[in-house]
Amino acid sequence: MDYREAFPEKLRDYYRRLFGDEAEEIMASLRTPVEKYYIRVNTLKTSRSKLMGILRKEGLRPKRSPYLKEGIYFEREGPNFPDDFEPELPVVRANKFASESVYQGAMLYAPGVLQADRKIKPGDEVEIRDPRGLLVGIGIARMSAKEMILSKRGLAVKVTLPKFRLPSLSELESFREGLFYAQSLPSMVVAHILEPGEGEVIVDMAAAPGGKTSHIAQLMENRGEIIAIDKSKNRLRKMEEELGRLGVKNVKPVLMDSRKLPELGIKADKILLDAPCTALGIRPKLWETRKPKDINATARYQRQFIDSAIKSLRKGGVLVYSTCTLSYEENEANVRYMLEKGLKLEEQSVFIGSGGIGMEGVQRFYPNRHLTQGFFIARLRRV
Ligand code: SAM
Repeated sequence: MDYREAFPEKLRDYYRRLFGDEAEEIMASLRTPVEKYYIRVNTLKTSRSKLMGILRKEGLRPKRSPYLKEGIYFEREGPNFPDDFEPELPVVRANKFASESVYQGAMLYAPGVLQADRKIKPGDEVEIRDPRGLLVGIGIARMSAKEMILSKRGLAVKVTLPKFRLPSLSELESFREGLFYAQSLPSMVVAHILEPGEGEVIVDMAAAPGGKTSHIAQLMENRGEIIAIDKSKNRLRKMEEELGRLGVKNVKPVLMDSRKLPELGIKADKILLDAPCTALGIRPKLWETRKPKDINATARYQRQFIDSAIKSLRKGGVLVYSTCTLSYEENEANVRYMLEKGLKLEEQSVFIGSGGIGMEGVQRFYPNRHLTQGFFIARLRRV
C-alpha cells in the first residue's frame, strides 16, 4: 500500500498547503517508527554511565544522546523487508493497535487478532497483516486459527520478523527498578525548557501518564511541589504507578478538569501545558484518522486550557506550551492567541529543532528532519 493512502485526502491537502514540497517526506516518515528510540535516565536513582553498563549487560546496545545528558537511545532495526514483499503464507489479520505494535517488533496476542486462515495450526509460519492488508510482520503461530480468534488472552503469534524492531524494555530488571523512563527526545526537551527551580510551585495541567511530570521532579531533585492534574482516572492511576516506580516524591496528583484550574486559587511560578492534541506527530501511523476539522475543534479546546493557565500564573510566571502534533492551528496560532493575551515569548534553553511556521522563537520537531516524533514547544512569560 502506498503511504499516501494512509492519510485522508483532506489532511494530505492540508499538509501540502502547510509544508509545500516537504509534505510528502513528512508523511512518509510518519509511517515508520522513529529511527532513534529514546529513554530518559532516572537521575533520582542512577547515572547515565551506570545505566549504560546495566543495559549492555541486559543485552542491549545503548548510545548516548549528544543533546541531553540524561538521554540514551537505541537504533531502530529495519525495514526488514521491502514494501512489495509477498511471503504467500497463511494470513493472520490483526486490529490496528496490535498491528502497530507488531510493526515495531512486539508479539501478537490473541485479543489483537481479527481473523486467521482456517488451516493455521500451532507451529505454522504465518504472515501478519493490518486491517487494510499491509504486511506488518512474519511469525510462528502459537495457537490454532480458532483459538487465536476466540481467546481473550495469550500469545497468538511469536513474531520472528517484524517490519521494524525497537527494543522491548518493559521486561528488564532495570525498568522494574525504575532506572529509566521511555520518552521521546522532544518530550525530554520540554522539562528543560520549563527550567524548574527547587522551591517553585509548578502545575502540570495535562500530566498523565507522568512522563514530563517525573522529568520535572528529577530536575528539581524531588524538592519543591508539582501539582499534576489530569481528568482521566485510569491515566492518573497509571501516573501514580509510574511515579512510584521512579521514586518521585514531590508530586501531588489531582483528578480534575484543568479548565477549572483557577478555582483552586493557585498562583503558580510555572505551568506546563502539554496539551491534549490531534497527535498528528506520533509515529508510526499505519493510517491516520484525523481530518482538518478535528484540528480546528482541538485548537479551540486548547484555548480553554490556555485561558485557565494564564489566570493561574503569577505575574512574572512562565508557561510552557507543547503538543505532539504538526498542525498550525494547535501550535503557532495558539501561541499568537497567547501573545494577544499579553504573554511574551521567551528563548528556549535547549534548541535542537527548527523555528515555527512564520514565527521565530518557538521550536518545531519534524519527523523527516529531526528523525523524532513531530512536536512543538513554546515558552512564554506573563509580564
Ligand atoms: N504530559 C503527559 C506526559 O508527558 O506523560 C502526556 C499528556 S497527554 C498529551 C494529554 C493528557 O491530557 C491526557 O492524559 C488526557 O487525559 C489529559 N486531558 C485531556 N483533557 C483534559 C482536561 N480537560 N483536564 C485535564 N486533563 C485533560
